Amino acid sequence: MAPSNSQIAHIGLAVEDLETALSFFKDVLGHEPTGVESADGAEIASLRFGDVDIELLKPQKPDSPIGKFIAKRGPGIHHICLRVPDLDAAITDCQSKGYQMIDAEPRTGAGGHRIAFLHPKSTFGILLELTD
Ligand code: ZN
Repeated sequence: MAPSNSQIAHIGLAVEDLETALSFFKDVLGHEPTGVESADGAEIASLRFGDVDIELLKPQKPDSPIGKFIAKRGPGIHHICLRVPDLDAAITDCQSKGYQMIDAEPRTGAGGHRIAFLHPKSTFGILLELTD
């Protein structure tokens, strides 16, 4: 994975109430979501900031990944997604260098993008998502 070819794709924020969070971005910044969809047990609203999206993640049930995150840590930054030139190569590279993947194979995430998560134990407590 060549770091110079990687960039931030989106930042995922865990929120308890999507309407309240969307109101802030609309009232303060004039931002409307580019879309709202469901993935991984969360309702996801995407807001575009230049080349980077902010994804507001609201749990659809308490035992979903976002629901558990909020119960344990409260709302806030949930993950950062990095765009890499070649997701398959990045996964192989991470594994060969001893970094633990949550997803050993790419899977389909929000927006139909191919994604894979690294385990936070391998990335100093930060949940990192990779996409291409
Ligand atoms: Zn994400």
